[in-house]
Amino acid sequence: MLKDNFDKVLGEINGAAKLIAVSKKKPATTVLEAYDYGQRDFGENYVQELAEKAASLPTDIRWHQIGYLQSNKVKYIAPFVYSIHSVHSEKLAKEINKQARKNNRVISCLLQVHIAEEDSKSGFDENELLEFIESGRLESYENIEIHGLMGMATFTSDTDQIEQEFKGLQAIFEKIKTLDLPANIKMEELSMGMSSDWQLAIKYGSTMLRIGSALFGSRD
Ligand SMILES: *Cc1c(COP(=O)(O)O)cnc(C)c1O
Repeated sequence: MLKDNFDKVLGEINGAAKLIAVSKKKPATTVLEAYDYGQRDFGENYVQELAEKAASLPTDIRWHQIGYLQSNKVKYIAPFVYSIHSVHSEKLAKEINKQARKNNRVISCLLQVHIAEEDSKSGFDENELLEFIESGRLESYENIEIHGLMGMATFTSDTDQIEQEFKGLQAIFEKIKTLDLPANIKMEELSMGMSSDWQLAIKYGSTMLRIGSALFGSRD
């Protein structure tokens, strides 16, 4: 059944974007089953759960931290995390840089942009983001490399609203691409789209889909 879900979703995506399988709240055995079908990129929200899974699963899994990340928890994932999609503040970027340096690594990060109407979702707003990128401050963070942007649309059945939000994020992404960027900022990845809205996200240039329930079933 899990295999059928993966085949269906991968068939529909048809190579248009990378699939990050969101395995939060699903057991390590389920991750391993997907791994055996060839899936290597997995997304997790909770630091402790991520650290536990990573310790017990194959080391060639690329773990993506996609959920809200507190600065004081970065140290638990810094030794192994492949990418952090949810960099929502300069303070967090600074802490990731510090922990990456301690581990002698360069950690790939995406800057999270607040595009939804809910305040519960985090991220930079457009002006803050442009100020941060144009300030040159990121250049001194030698142990992080910014690979692009991440966003989450509003939880709504109004597809026009979701489209407008994705379109807005794409516009910010394209605008940043035209800037004179330091070597550690690359605008290559646009992480947007979940189980309910990934088709729309592809329409607006998503390169990374974070899909959970459509693959693993609903979470309790
Ligand atoms: C849980 C989660 C997802 C996946 O959600 P589904 O609706 O299950 O596909 C994607 N992105 C983030 C940030 C999440 O927290």
